[in-house]
Amino acid sequence: EEMGDLPSYEELLEKDRKYVWHHMSAHNENPMIIASGEGSWVTDVGGNRYLDGMSGLWCVNVGHGRKEIAEAAAEQMMKLAYSTMVQSHIPAIELAAKINEWLDGDYRIFFSNSGSDANEVAFKVARQYYHQNGKPTKHKFISRHRAYHGNSMGALGATGQAQRKLKYEPLGVGFQHVPPPYCYRCPFGQTQGKCSLQCAKAIEDAIVWEGADSIAGVIMEPVITGGGMIVPPDEYLKTVRRICDKYEVLLIVDEVICGFGRSGEKFGHLNYGVRPDIVTMAKGMTSAYSPLSATAVSAELYESFRNNQEPTSHLRHINTFGGNPVSCVVALKNIEILESENLVARSSEIGNAFKDGLKPLLEHPHIGEIRIFGSALGIELVEDVKTKQPATAERVMKIIAACKQKGLLIGKNGDTVPGYANILTLSPPFSSTDEDITFIVDTLLAVFDANQ
Ligand code: PLP
Repeated sequence: EEMGDLPSYEELLEKDRKYVWHHMSAHNENPMIIASGEGSWVTDVGGNRYLDGMSGLWCVNVGHGRKEIAEAAAEQMMKLAYSTMVQSHIPAIELAAKINEWLDGDYRIFFSNSGSDANEVAFKVARQYYHQNGKPTKHKFISRHRAYHGNSMGALGATGQAQRKLKYEPLGVGFQHVPPPYCYRCPFGQTQGKCSLQCAKAIEDAIVWEGADSIAGVIMEPVITGGGMIVPPDEYLKTVRRICDKYEVLLIVDEVICGFGRSGEKFGHLNYGVRPDIVTMAKGMTSAYSPLSATAVSAELYESFRNNQEPTSHLRHINTFGGNPVSCVVALKNIEILESENLVARSSEIGNAFKDGLKPLLEHPHIGEIRIFGSALGIELVEDVKTKQPATAERVMKIIAACKQKGLLIGKNGDTVPGYANILTLSPPFSSTDEDITFIVDTLLAVFDANQ
C-alpha cells in the first residue's frame, strides 16, 4: 500500500548483514524485515502479511498501530521528555497508583527499563531487606529448571536453562534450582490424581538443606511461559507461599509475561489466590510501545527501608531511563485500552477459543499435550505420544516454517537442554478479532494435518 518507496529486501539485507548483530539467533539465517503493523498483523518489506501469533515477544498485547498511544507519547515528549526518578513526575505517580489498583494490593513501585532490570531490583531489595533486619546471612534465591528470568548476570543466574547460560558463567552467585511443576513429565514420577505436590516440597527441601538462614527469596513465574508453558497444579502456588512464610523467605513473582492480562486475570498470580512480597513486570505493561518495567514491593518491606536511619538504608539503585515519563504515559494509555476494551476478559476468551478449536489436534500422533493459560498456548510436540520422547528439532522447525509459509508467526520454548526445545508457543494480541483467532486455529489444523 503505502510501502512503495521502501528499499528492497535485498538492499536492506546486505546492510543488515554488514551492520546488525541479531538477538539470540544463529548467524546463518536471513532475517525477516518487518516494516509495519496493524492490529494482530505485521507486514514485511516485501509486502507479505503475517499474523503476529507471539505478539512480538509475548508483549504487543493491545495489537499494533494504536494511534492513541502514539499521540499520548508525542504529547508527553513535547510537555516533558525526561525527568529523573530521584525526583518524581506526574506520569510515574499516576502509573504507580494504577499498578496498585491492578495488583489489588499495597505496593511501592520502582521503575526500570526491562524485565531483567526489574528482577535485578527484586534480588537487591530482598538481600538488603534481610541485611537491615537482623538476618544478614539470607542472600540466596531459589528458582526452577526451565525458568527464564532475563539476560543480565543476576537474572540469567536465576534462569534454569543450560543453553542460555553456557559460556557466560559464572553468573550472579546464590541461585539454587529445583524441578518445575511439570505434570506432563512429572520430575517425581507422579501421575494425575496421585500428586502430592512434590514439586513444591522440593522448594522446602532446598530451603532446609541450603539452610533457611541463607535463603532470601524464591522467584517464579505463575506459569513458566517461555520455558515451555508449564502450568502448575492448582494448589502449587499457595503451597509455595506457605513454605515461604514458614521459613521467612520472600516470594518474588515474575509477571513479565503473565501480567497485564495475558493470564486472563489482571496478573497471573491472581488466578491462584496468593499475595507475593515482590512482583516484577514489563512487556505487556506498555504493550512494548516503549520500554518500561517495574518492581512492585510490598508496603511492609518498603516501610522497613523507610524507617531505617542508617546512611546506606535506602535502595541505592538508579538507572537513567527507568520510569521515563513518555514510557509511563504509554503504559497508562495501554492500560486504559485494556480496561475500556475489556481485553483481560478477551484474553481468556481467546484461550477458550483455542481450547475448542484445537481439540482435533489432541488426536495427532506428534502432539503430546496442549497447555493453555489465559491466551497463552503451548503445544508439546513428541516423536511418539506413548514414550513422550520429545520431537526432534527438525520436526519442530518444520511446523514453524509451515505456519510462516501460511502467514502465521509462532514461537517455541527457549533452548533448555539439547533435545528439549519441543514446545510450540502462541500468545496473540488480546485485541485479535474472531477472524484472527479463526485464522490461527485453521492454520494450525491445516499445518498439522499436512504433517502427520
Ligand atoms: N522474565 C520473564 C518471565 C521473561 O519472559 C523475560 C523475557 O522474555 C524476562 C524476565 C526478561 O525481560 P527483558 O527481556 O525485558 O529483560
